[in-house]
Amino acid sequence: SLLTFGQMLDGFARLRPNDLGARDLERALTFSQWNERARRLGNALLGLGLSTGDRVAVLAYNRLEWAEIYAATAKAGLIAVPLNFRLSALEMRFIIEDCAAAAVLSEHGLHGAIEEVRADLAIPESRYVLFGGRAAGWHDYEDLLSRAASSAPDVAVSDTDPWALMYTSGTTGKPKGVIRSHRSQALVGLVTEIELGIGARDDALLVMPMCHANSLNFFSSFSYRGGVTSIFSRASFDAEEALDVMERSGATFTSLVPTHYIMMLEQAKAESRTRDLGRMTKLMISSAPARADTKRAVMEMFPNSGLFELYGSSEGGWVTMLHPDEQFTNLGTVGRECVGTAPIRLLDDDGNEVPDGQPGELFHCTPYTFDGYWNLPEKTAEAFRGEYCTVGDMALRDENGFIKLIDRKKNMIISGGENIYPAEVEAVLGAAPEVRDVAVIGLPDEKWGERVHAVVVLKDGARASEADVIGWCGERIARFKRPRSVSFVAAEDIPRTATGKIQHGILKEKLLTGAF
Ligand code: ATP
Repeated sequence: SLLTFGQMLDGFARLRPNDLGARDLERALTFSQWNERARRLGNALLGLGLSTGDRVAVLAYNRLEWAEIYAATAKAGLIAVPLNFRLSALEMRFIIEDCAAAAVLSEHGLHGAIEEVRADLAIPESRYVLFGGRAAGWHDYEDLLSRAASSAPDVAVSDTDPWALMYTSGTTGKPKGVIRSHRSQALVGLVTEIELGIGARDDALLVMPMCHANSLNFFSSFSYRGGVTSIFSRASFDAEEALDVMERSGATFTSLVPTHYIMMLEQAKAESRTRDLGRMTKLMISSAPARADTKRAVMEMFPNSGLFELYGSSEGGWVTMLHPDEQFTNLGTVGRECVGTAPIRLLDDDGNEVPDGQPGELFHCTPYTFDGYWNLPEKTAEAFRGEYCTVGDMALRDENGFIKLIDRKKNMIISGGENIYPAEVEAVLGAAPEVRDVAVIGLPDEKWGERVHAVVVLKDGARASEADVIGWCGERIARFKRPRSVSFVAAEDIPRTATGKIQHGILKEKLLTGAF
C-alpha cells in the first residue's frame, strides 16, 4: 500500500533523489541517501532475527538517526517504540516490558539507563544497537548498516499495520501504548499540511522530542510532502539554541509547547540584541494550556508568523485548530475541528450531548484515530463510543462553535459538591504579576470533601503571602473556586511532563507526604 512511510520514501528517492530529505545540526541526507540507509537498517534489524510486527525500543535525543529508524522500521514492518529520555531506567523498563520489545536502539550516552535494567529484560543479548559511539555489548549502528544489503527489505507492509507505539506520558496514570498505523500518520501529515498551508518552500524545524506524538505527526507530514526539510535539534530544549536555529537555519515553521515559548520569550528579554526571526512564518502551539499573554508576546516576537494553536492527543492526532486570524477574536478557545474531523461531541455522564456553553466530556472522531492501546482491550473499549473516542478532556462549545478546553476530567476537584477545574484557577492565578508558575490541586477536607489548594512559584524578587494569592482571585472567579490554602515552592518543585503538562497526581502525592 502506498500509505506506508517506507513506500513513500522510496517514491521520493526516485522522484527527487538529490534533494535534501532530512538533516540535523551536523549532518544531512538526500532522499536517496536517506532511503538507502533506511533500507540497510531495515535489513540489518531483520538480520538480527526480528520479524514483522516486532517492537523496537528507541532511546535518543533528537538526531538524524530518528529519520532513519522510523523509515527503517516502516520498511521492515517493525513497530518503533520511542522512549522518552527523561524517564528513569525503571520507567523505561516498564515500557520495554509492556510492549515486549525485541530490540533496543540507543544513542551513546543515554544507554546507561538501559544497562541498569538490561539484566532483567528478555531481549537477546545480540539485539542491542548503539549509535553516536561504541560500547561493549552493543552492536555498532554504522557497522550494521555497512554490512547490510541496500535492497528493499523483503517484507509486505500494509498501511493499516502499526508503525509506532507512542506511550502516553502518564499524566493520568501508567503510560499506555497508543497504536499508530501508517495510514493514520499519513493522514495526520496531510491534514497538517492543509491546515497550516504548508508549501514547497517550507522547512520544518523539529524541536520537540521525537518520542512525542506531536513530533511524529510533524515528521510524517514533511516527509510525505518532500520539499520540506526536517532539522533535528540536538538535545532537550535550549531556548538560545532554538532561537539561533530559527534565525540561521532557513526553517519556516515549527511546533512547540507553551513552556518552550515562555523560555524563548525570557531568553529574548535577557539578550541585548534584537534577533531577526522574520523567516518563521508558521508557529504551532499545543499540548498544554497556553496563556493569552504568552500567545500575544509570541506574536509580537515573531512578526511574520501566524500562530496556530492545536488541540490534540497521541490517541486522536490533531483534533481542533485555532488559526492565526482567530487568535484575537476567539482567544481562550482551541478553535474548531480540523479538516476531515467529524463534529466533536460533548457528552454528560449518561452519554447525552450537553447544550452549547455547558461542560461535557470531549469525544472526537478524526480520520486518524488510534487503533487502541497496546494490550489493554478494556482501556481501549472505555475510550471508544463507536467511532468516537475520548482521552478524558472536559470542554464546552461557545456561541461561535469554538471549542474551549476546560481540563482533564481526572483533575476535577469536587468541593462541597461543586466541580472545580484546576486549569481555570491556574489561569487566573498565573496572570497575577508576582506569580511565575502555579498548579492547583484538591486536598482532602473533612467538611468540603476536597478543598482547593494552590502551589505557587513566585517570580524572582517578588513577594506575596497566602492572603495575597487568595485575594488576587478576588472577583475574578467564584468564591468556591478560590484556593483555601497556598504553598510556595521553587520552580522545579512543580512536576511537569516533557510537554510541559503539570503532573497533578504526583504533586498531590508530594504534598500529602509532606515532601515540601
Ligand atoms: P496521558 O494520557 O498519560 O495523560 P499525555 O497527557 O501526555 O498522557 P498526550 O497525548 O501527550 O497525553 O497529550 C494530550 C493532552 O494534552 C490532551 O488530552 C489535552 O489534555 C492536552 N492538550 C493538548 N493540546 C492542548 C491545548 N492546545 N491546550 C490545552 N491542553 C492541550
